[in-house]
Parts: sequence; C-alpha cells; structure tokens
Amino acid sequence: MAGTAGSCLFCQIARSATSTRLLYADERVVAFPDINPSAFRHYLVIPVEHVATVNDLKRGVDDHQLVSHMLNVGQNLLCRDAPESKLYRFGFHQPPFNSVDHLHLHCFALPYIPRWKHMKYISLGSIGFIEAEKLLERIKPLEPIGS
Ligand SMILES: [Zn+2]
Ligand SMILES: [Zn+2]
Repeated sequence: MAGTAGSCLFCQIARSATSTRLLYADERVVAFPDINPSAFRHYLVIPVEHVATVNDLKRGVDDHQLVSHMLNVGQNLLCRDAPESKLYRFGFHQPPFNSVDHLHLHCFALPYIPRWKHMKYISLGSIGFIEAEKLLERIKPLEPIGS
C-alpha cells in the first residue's frame, strides 16, 4: 500500500506537497478544485489516507463516517461558493471507470460545462458512477443483531 501511495498524486495533494490550492483541509479529508472542471463549480473531496476505490470501502461505522464527512464537506463548499446553483451532484467513479486510483468525491454545482455534457458525467448514477447517497446506503453499518 505504501508503494502505491508514495507515487499517488492525490496523496501528495493531501499532504500539501503540490501547488494545488486546498479549499478545505482537516485531519481526515481535503478538498480542492478539479483541474479540468466539467461543471460551473467542480470540486474533489478526498480522504487524507490513501483509499484506492469505492471497492475498498467496507460496510461499517468507520468508512460510513468517512464518506458522510466527505459529502458534508462537499455540500458546505458548494453552498458557500455556488449558492445560486440549486442543483448539486455528488458521486464517485466505480472501477474500471475511475480516473485516479485514490478515492475522490466529485462535487458538481450545475450547470455542466457544455463540452462535457454528453460525455462521462451525464451518466452520473449509471454504470460508471455511483451517487454518494447510494454508496452510503451500500456501506451503512448493519444493525447489531439481538440488541
Ligand atoms: Zn493516494
Ligand atoms: Zn474522478
């Protein structure tokens, strides 16, 4: 794992080892603008700790809290920076459609930028993408049995 993380661009961004301007940072997540925005506002929220893809998230309190936190951070940033856009979308790539192998939440304040409209992000929620709410449902901790 350390080997992968060492050469990972998003790990470097999370450690502030690049010139990328962070919009938000705490001990668990950082947020920054997508370098190739495909919507009016397009941010990425990533965990500081290297997690490769949604397939590496496990059902349970830890990962569920991490993803809820990522979503909260994204929502707050878009509310702050794009209050006039009432349409927000939040989602993750699903392998093999992930562009970077470090988990990242795409946060869009619509409208999409036209050149991208008919390309990958129109399919948010379909095969290449999973909406944040759906992922949260998938990894939601199970009720303790017999309690
Ligand atoms: Zn990484
Ligand atoms: Zn991506």
